[in-house]
Amino acid sequence: MSGTQIESILTEARTFPVPEEFARQANMDQAQYEALCRQAAENPAEFWGKLARDHLHWDKPFNQVLDDSQAPFYKWFSDGELNVSVNCLDRHLDSPTRNKAAIIWESEQGEVVTLTYAQLHREVSRFAATLQDLGIHLGDRVAIYMPMVPEAVIAMLACARIGAIHTVVFGGFSAEALKDRIEDTQARLLITADGGYRAGKVVPLKHNADQALSRSSHAVEHMIVFQRTGEEVNMQSGRDLWWHDLAAKAQVDCAPLAVNAEHPLLILYTSGSTGKPKGIVHSSGGYLLWSLLTTHWVFDLKPTDVYWCTADIGWITGHSYVVYGPLALGATVFMYEGAPTYPDAGRFWDMIEHHRVNVFYTAPTAIRALMKLGDEWPNRYDLSSLRLLGTVGEPINPEAWMWYYKVIGKERCPIADTWWQTETGGHMISPLPGVTPLKPGSCTRPLPGIFPDIVDEEGEIIQSTEAGGYLVMTRPWPGMLRTVWGDEARYIENYWAKFNNRFYVAGDSAHRDMDGYYWIMGRIDDVLNVSGHRLGTMEIESALVAHPAVAEAAVVGRPHEIKGEAICAFVVLRQSHAGEDMDALAQTLRAHVADAIGPIARPDEIRFTDNLPKTRSGKIMRRLLRAIARGEEITQDTSTLENEETVRQLER
Ligand code: ATP
Ligand code: MG
Repeated sequence: MSGTQIESILTEARTFPVPEEFARQANMDQAQYEALCRQAAENPAEFWGKLARDHLHWDKPFNQVLDDSQAPFYKWFSDGELNVSVNCLDRHLDSPTRNKAAIIWESEQGEVVTLTYAQLHREVSRFAATLQDLGIHLGDRVAIYMPMVPEAVIAMLACARIGAIHTVVFGGFSAEALKDRIEDTQARLLITADGGYRAGKVVPLKHNADQALSRSSHAVEHMIVFQRTGEEVNMQSGRDLWWHDLAAKAQVDCAPLAVNAEHPLLILYTSGSTGKPKGIVHSSGGYLLWSLLTTHWVFDLKPTDVYWCTADIGWITGHSYVVYGPLALGATVFMYEGAPTYPDAGRFWDMIEHHRVNVFYTAPTAIRALMKLGDEWPNRYDLSSLRLLGTVGEPINPEAWMWYYKVIGKERCPIADTWWQTETGGHMISPLPGVTPLKPGSCTRPLPGIFPDIVDEEGEIIQSTEAGGYLVMTRPWPGMLRTVWGDEARYIENYWAKFNNRFYVAGDSAHRDMDGYYWIMGRIDDVLNVSGHRLGTMEIESALVAHPAVAEAAVVGRPHEIKGEAICAFVVLRQSHAGEDMDALAQTLRAHVADAIGPIARPDEIRFTDNLPKTRSGKIMRRLLRAIARGEEITQDTSTLENEETVRQLER
């Protein structure tokens, strides 16, 4: 074994065939899948060109599918024109979809609001006219800092209608993070709300926005404030405007502006798990096509489905799978404003029962958190409407997968473990529920048109089914990022330079098994080097989570004189095991890992904690744990850290 490869040590062998009943009704079956994969390999221009013509409404048809003359700055459909809001709204108005629910929204307090496609179209048009009245034009940046309310979606689509570029900033972020994003994008306008509700409390969005602007070196011209809580807020005259005042005055109609397919639709900053967030730029045509296709293929959406993706619109998952993908398909999207466990741990399951949700998409962090609280919560509710489950954001440990499969999906629902990134625009490696047998912990195989590979330090393709390496994409795809906002050099350096622009480098490590299934092993930055063995974090963490006492685990390395690195594991216990003898349990867990995957992976140290430091999107920030394990001071970017108190506790 070469020292530059990462060892695969996980021995997960369970497989789950595609349920026959599901396969019979699926949007994509085995034969279609094979035909698409073949076509994508043999004639990519024809493959992508046909999909883009069949699925999108073009104001000016394109002739050129891919322009790679300035690779890796790829352009797609770049002599065509379209409008994204027309594709998400107007084109549904001549069909029965017109009067179907586009959004069913529930607030934390339990009010429910439904907007049909016709109603959503009217609100978007009206708000787009408002933006135009304020002088917002093609290419202007608009920052959106909103709670999870339908108006956030309206604001995004209104920007798309007039060709303004939106940058959504998660409502849970601080004034500082908002300030950074306003400065970086030089936004002309900020759209916010007086506040939002989370876990029974009011999040003071307007107050944060005021602070952000007072510290910012760049001044926005206007701030539009949506009234959500009715709390008193400070309105700066001349700059700040109430949404409802503007809406009362605005025209109802706003003609959509056809834009070039390559026109940026959005800028979105990454989660910041591995460093300072990057402003990812997505296009109008290619991004919309990829979010639509993946929603259709992976979530198997049917016209009658109620579909719920729990992500906030502040993340790419919220962009592609709450807004653009499902609305472009004419689907019914369920949206929830509040905290997952408010007023109690049954909230998610209660809403699934009540709204008869059919397709449910969430993150491993939520699954592990709900698992930690015990099965009695989901077991109180009728979850029989569910037919498909999904997960995204981090590797899902096989035991958390099994819990999701059994306790939530009742062994009936396939699970789509979707691997992708802010940068990829949509799912890349994921099961197709009517086609792909499942293996817990694997995101399975690439979608049609996607060509991943695994390479070693020298860029050579790794053939072995045991060893891991860099996950790369060997061909461009329409949903890919176009650049890092204002920083072309960073685009090249981050994603292409490592192997001389030959591949898109995802930054994750992975291995591929003998069935061609991909297993994400963690971030390249997090790989451990123990006595010459290079180990991914995911596998040791999964062995820990497989122990009945453990809800969640994070593994990092710290320098060790003899071994190079020692393994330090941070462990969160399930509620049922709190209060046990910690020393004995640490010994048991160390032995358990050695048993499950071999002595090389035995943790040198186990530290118990109530919580792990996470990004606001719920991902474990191992870079902070690494500093803590090494006893170093934390000097890194923590602007996207969720729970600072956790870090302070761990440092003690
Ligand atoms: P930053 O790039 O700023 O460090 P981030 O990578 O966490 O932040 P995102 O784009 O939100 O920002 O996350 C993408 C990453 O999430 C992937 O590179 C991968 O590490 C992880 N990920 C997402 N989905 C999966 C999945 N299904 N399985 C394993 N890992 C996943
Ligand atoms: Mg990333």
